[in-house]
Amino acid sequence: MTIEAKEKEKDSIYKPFIATIKGIKELSSTEKQFDIQIDDKETREAFNFKPGQFVELTVFGLGEAPFSIPSSPNNKDYFELCIRNVGNVSGALHKMKEGDKVGIRGPFGKGHFPYEEMKDNNVVIVAGGLGMAPVRSLIKYVLENRDDYKRVIIIYGSINPDYLLYKDELEEWQKRDDVEVRLTVDEPCEGWQGEVGVCTNLIPGIDCPVDESYVVVCGPPVMYKFVIKELEKKCFKPEKVFLSLERRMECGVGKCNHCHIGDKMTCVDGPVFSLWEIRNLKEAI
Ligand SMILES: Cc1cc2nc3c(=O)[nH]c(=O)nc-3n(C[C@H](O)[C@H](O)[C@H](O)COP(=O)(O)OP(=O)(O)OC[C@H]3O[C@@H](n4cnc5c(N)ncnc54)[C@H](O)[C@@H]3O)c2cc1C
Repeated sequence: MTIEAKEKEKDSIYKPFIATIKGIKELSSTEKQFDIQIDDKETREAFNFKPGQFVELTVFGLGEAPFSIPSSPNNKDYFELCIRNVGNVSGALHKMKEGDKVGIRGPFGKGHFPYEEMKDNNVVIVAGGLGMAPVRSLIKYVLENRDDYKRVIIIYGSINPDYLLYKDELEEWQKRDDVEVRLTVDEPCEGWQGEVGVCTNLIPGIDCPVDESYVVVCGPPVMYKFVIKELEKKCFKPEKVFLSLERRMECGVGKCNHCHIGDKMTCVDGPVFSLWEIRNLKEAI
């Protein structure tokens, strides 16, 4: 590659689009939703993502971090991010206001939830805590195209009811007769009517035929080993189980080598992998 070509590539892959925070909503005591609109109309219209992909968001003068896109890919005007306040970039974002500018690169990730392939199958979602963020994009898409899918089962667990994300939507989905929502919390509080315990406990109760079912898993790292064990007991097919994996990453485009899992990179090969793909990668789970 010539120096000119390298410079051009750098320009296109590392240069963020300027975007505006159009709305901010508190989702829990630690998470906020940010509605992000890319300023340039042409770029905005060309920004097509798939459920499970992510963006790199820049807080100017401070830094950049990857965030999954929880909104529906059908929403073209802006996209949403769900951000937990934990450190530099996320903490600065939590202090920002509507109208403030951020930088966006992406969408990134080759691996996404295979929503096309899932058609005519049951869709089982297993999410823990902040893991609801990436899978919500898939849930939104499936519900917008409800007739294309068989049963939709959502198993979602969090530490306590306050930490459940998108409570208003969970309530709406619970009211529908074409979605089965099973919520569980580690620590119940007064008035809690759902299950108590980790979300793994609800897997034995999944009663759909494994040949016609896709399972999607996203949650804290500790969750995966136990969820996979339970899914394997029920004989779900590894090529139909998809997991969104998170690793510390910088560039998002396969250059910085921070997010390796064996010979795979989370940013360009994932972040969504099938259980079949990662079955022999020791560091994956
Ligand atoms: C593909 C992908 C999707 C993501 N999606 C979301 C999302 O939807 N919402 C969201 O809130 N966050 C998401 N994250 C995490 C996010 O990118 C940042 O890591 C997080 O916001 C912390 O960045 P920070 O600059 O605020 O904190 P920092 O100042 O970098 O760190 C704060 C503390 O958290 C620790 N830490 C930071 N990142 C990680 C990590 N990845 N693993 C382990 N420890 C870490 C640091 O060691 C430090 O102790 C995602 C990460 C990846 C790789």
